[in-house]
This record gives sequence, structure tokens and C-alpha cells, in this order.
Amino acid sequence: MTDVSALNPCITCGACCAFFRASFYWTEADEQTGGTVPAHLTEPLTPHLVAMKGTTTAAPRCVCLQGAIGEQVHCSIYPQRSSTCREFPYSGENGQPNERCDKARAAWGLPPLITPSPSPVEPDSPAPPRAA
Ligand code: SF4
Ligand code: SF4
Repeated sequence: MTDVSALNPCITCGACCAFFRASFYWTEADEQTGGTVPAHLTEPLTPHLVAMKGTTTAAPRCVCLQGAIGEQVHCSIYPQRSSTCREFPYSGENGQPNERCDKARAAWGLPPLITPSPSPVEPDSPAPPRAA
């Protein structure tokens, strides 16, 4: 059986949903303009932005995050989530690091998804000059 967490590490993480404020343009939570995010799960942030409820506090956790961080999680509005959530890549997705993913994971005691490359080894002493 395929280990889905190996394909998508977010399934066993969820740290970013309980670390950052998830804010986006208000129309994404407005049915009249084609928005998909349920408006009752958002709160106003500025005249133009709303945020997922639960993500604007000092100890954020999105109201839609289900499960235990670092174990097994899912987003209860996954197909309807905002562009902010959809466009947040996990570190290593498409071969690109994401420092913000690393930062959220670290805050929850989770290791970075990409092991940093070791620094190039410095020679102990300069190579001896070659004979001409
Ligand atoms: S912190 Fe990274 S690995 Fe964890 S859920 Fe967010 S994007 Fe996925
Ligand atoms: S809507 Fe879903 S993906 Fe976005 S912050 Fe909340 S739980 Fe995470």
C-alpha cells in the first residue's frame, strides 16, 4: 500500500495551519462573486481582507484544521480553501525549499522536510605546490 504521507507530507503535519494567519481577499469568501470559502468560517481583517477564524490570535489554529498536528490532520474545507492555503507549498514541493514551511514545522517541534546539504568540506591545509 502506498504511504500517502510520503506523497504529501502535509497529511501528517498541519503546522502552518496553526502558525500563520491565513488571510485573503474578501471575494474568496463571497458566494456572489464566486468565492468558495464559507464566509461564516472567516472574520474581517481589513476593508479588503478576511482571515480564517482561529488564525488571528496569538496562538493560532484554523477552525478548519482537524486532527493532531504532527500526527494526522486534514482541512475540513479542503476543496474550498482559499488561494492562500492552496498556494502554500510544502518545503521540497516541485524541488523548491519553503522557509515558511520549515519555520511552522520547527515551531511545532517537527524537523524540516529537506535535510540541509552539508557545507563543502574545507581542506585541512592548502594543497602542496606542484613541481613545474
Ligand atoms: S508546514 Fe509545510 S508540511 Fe506542514 S502542513 Fe504546512 S506546508 Fe505542509
Ligand atoms: S483553511 Fe484548511 S488549509 Fe487553510 S489554514 Fe485552515 S485548515 Fe489550513
